[in-house]
Amino acid sequence: MIRIVVSCMDRRLNKYLDEKYNDSNTIFVRNAGCNIESILGTLRSIISNEDVKDIILVPHNDCGAMKYVYGVLKENKPTEKEWHASLIREFEKIPFSSADELDVKNYALQQESAEKYFSKSVKLISTENATVEKSVGTGKHILVIAKAGRSKYGEIADQINANSKGEEKIELSECYFIQANGYDEISPDITIAVRKLGITDIVIYSNGTDEDRQMLEIKKKMKIHYSDQGLNIEIVSNRHRMQHPVKAL
Ligand SMILES: [Zn+2]
Repeated sequence: MIRIVVSCMDRRLNKYLDEKYNDSNTIFVRNAGCNIESILGTLRSIISNEDVKDIILVPHNDCGAMKYVYGVLKENKPTEKEWHASLIREFEKIPFSSADELDVKNYALQQESAEKYFSKSVKLISTENATVEKSVGTGKHILVIAKAGRSKYGEIADQINANSKGEEKIELSECYFIQANGYDEISPDITIAVRKLGITDIVIYSNGTDEDRQMLEIKKKMKIHYSDQGLNIEIVSNRHRMQHPVKAL
């Protein structure tokens, strides 16, 4: 029996998720703000291919995505059409007066969305609020893009360090993770990460040869989108580890 854990891309959650879900029955999906609406395709595909019993949502306090939503809706900060559609729109009808309050509203909103779409297909949908230390906003920030999968984050960081052409080793605490199976689902989240989080390096993590070609396509699209940002974009392929692949869309 399988559980899906949906969480935010925030780097402060990596250790929490590794410690709490240290088994091979958990498939991780992550984006900006633990947002269910924008990853429905990925969730549906996992549910139709695996014996999924639970969906556990893991949003968190001090969420950068909620600060961003707050800035757009309360301080008239600029946004873009695709961000509005994927993240901002669903908060327009919810009353709130601070970003902290928005974190709490987000817990309920994502639970409600997950129930709306998946209460018939899985037994249990629950929300677990992770508590993280307030961010000091310094240090190197790396964005890791991967398919939804079972790999633990410590293992992925080790694999990247073992297979990357880059000279500098990455630290797990520096890595934001965006994980879903369709590029269109995560493209707004990638843009938010690149423009708002000061990402300088992107690692596209491919968990075996069957994903290499798809990841190359993602890299091509990203090169076009972010050619002005001076980003290092690298594909790191883990060709030797093929257990538990998750079927792509
Ligand atoms: Zn977050």
